[in-house]
Amino acid sequence: MSDLNNPSIHYAPNPSNPKVIIAGAGLGGLTLAILLEKASIDYEILERATVLKPLGSATSLASNMMPLLEQLGLLDELKGISLEGKGFSVYRESPGGESLELLTKSDTSAAKEISGYASIVMSRPDLHALLLSHVPPHKVHLGKRVLSISQSNENGVLVRTSDGSTHECDILVGCDGAYSGVRQSLYKSMKKEGCLPNSDGEDMKVCHMSILGTSNPIDPSIVPLSKDGFARCDIVLGYKKPHSSDAFRSSDWGSESNGSIQEDWRTFKFPLGLDDSYITIDDLINSTESDNVTKVMLEEKLYTTWHHGRTVLMGDACHKMLPNAGRGAVNAMFDAVILANSLYEIAKDATYPNIRSAFKEYYDERFPHAKADLESSRKMASLLSGQTWSDNVMRKIAFNLTPTSMAASIAKTIAYRPQASFLPKAEYRGSGRVDPQKESKRYLQEKAIAI
Ligand SMILES: Cc1cc2nc3c(=O)[nH]c(=O)nc-3n(C[C@H](O)[C@H](O)[C@H](O)COP(=O)(O)OP(=O)(O)OC[C@H]3O[C@@H](n4cnc5c(N)ncnc54)[C@H](O)[C@@H]3O)c2cc1C
Repeated sequence: MSDLNNPSIHYAPNPSNPKVIIAGAGLGGLTLAILLEKASIDYEILERATVLKPLGSATSLASNMMPLLEQLGLLDELKGISLEGKGFSVYRESPGGESLELLTKSDTSAAKEISGYASIVMSRPDLHALLLSHVPPHKVHLGKRVLSISQSNENGVLVRTSDGSTHECDILVGCDGAYSGVRQSLYKSMKKEGCLPNSDGEDMKVCHMSILGTSNPIDPSIVPLSKDGFARCDIVLGYKKPHSSDAFRSSDWGSESNGSIQEDWRTFKFPLGLDDSYITIDDLINSTESDNVTKVMLEEKLYTTWHHGRTVLMGDACHKMLPNAGRGAVNAMFDAVILANSLYEIAKDATYPNIRSAFKEYYDERFPHAKADLESSRKMASLLSGQTWSDNVMRKIAFNLTPTSMAASIAKTIAYRPQASFLPKAEYRGSGRVDPQKESKRYLQEKAIAI
């Protein structure tokens, strides 16, 4: 029997006031919650962690995120916890292996003139805490790891969680990260139904590379910052073949695995101190809060099935990117706004066919962007840390791009600046082109009636 006609679910869907369950209170899930709150759509979040204390290094948010964050009223608070991103420096191991020498210094400040906003860099836990502070606490249920789901066209979705409880809803959003429980359960039933594409049944590709990320706050008595300052330092530690347990651990960004790295790498020197004086990686690690030092193995995968029945995926659950281009959180947050726009449109008549067409609209817009960003993240990873002959050639070409061609490439990426279609828009700034965005018919109608 198809799971989509599961008779064990007794929920009565409510098309005029549908209930959404968001699995996962990460960066994407919290952004969706803030948007659904503003759209007056009923929702609850189920989060597996018992205490919300995300680990991780720094996160940069590209300037094309800023109109949305301004529209949501978050921009001023974000400025208070972040630094402006001005560019990045790439170092490589010197032939003697004792120090790191500068390979290139890239200036990305053109983005500010083009979009009217600078990109920002901040500690990932600070960003998470800021988003969380905008979600009413009673909406977030901790200690609820999604174990499995069942769904029915007629009777909604049933979610089973690790504490033995069950939860029912009209719409389930799997925003539970790279090792998504929602995705695994959904794909299992789709496989049984014979409708899961083969490629989606394959494991994520674990790349043979690990990154140590550190971020502010850095204790200035140990590492006085150079005049430019810095908020994030990623160190590619190598290309060892990963153990399967590494792959599992990476989904948690465990800082507990930093110890061995410090032993191997701590004496490397690089010129990030005051007036370009040399500091060691150990200095950097010792001057950073331990929760902001993270070692991860990296995975990559673009799933093609983002929705089935009443369940939809977003963020790392459906597109896990390498972190080098800083596009993972940005894409999770863009997924949230486009999904919220599609749900808002049908929220007063959320019948099963309307839910499916809202999901399709979300997928049609977001899949091509996620695919392009996954590919550019992969290219950036090869550029920054690839070890082959062709990687070296590409590095030479890319790092010698003229400021004009660099600006043209930035302008193309940041033309995509989606906002919530059901709220007054933040004004577009800057000199660059902005991709047109679909208006909300419902919002325009309701506004016209109100006038
Ligand atoms: C080293 C590194 C640096 C990065 N830097 C950047 C950057 O600079 N810019 C950028 O844009 N992106 C960056 N990223 C990527 C970015 O952090 C992720 O893409 C982003 O957090 C994805 O958001 P999400 O909501 O999909 O998943 P997550 O933020 O991972 O949240 C998933 C949530 O789901 C919960 N969960 C997991 N399983 C379950 C379950 N079964 N049931 C219920 N809850 C569950 C988890 O506890 C978590 O709270 C970086 C990643 C790495 C590894």
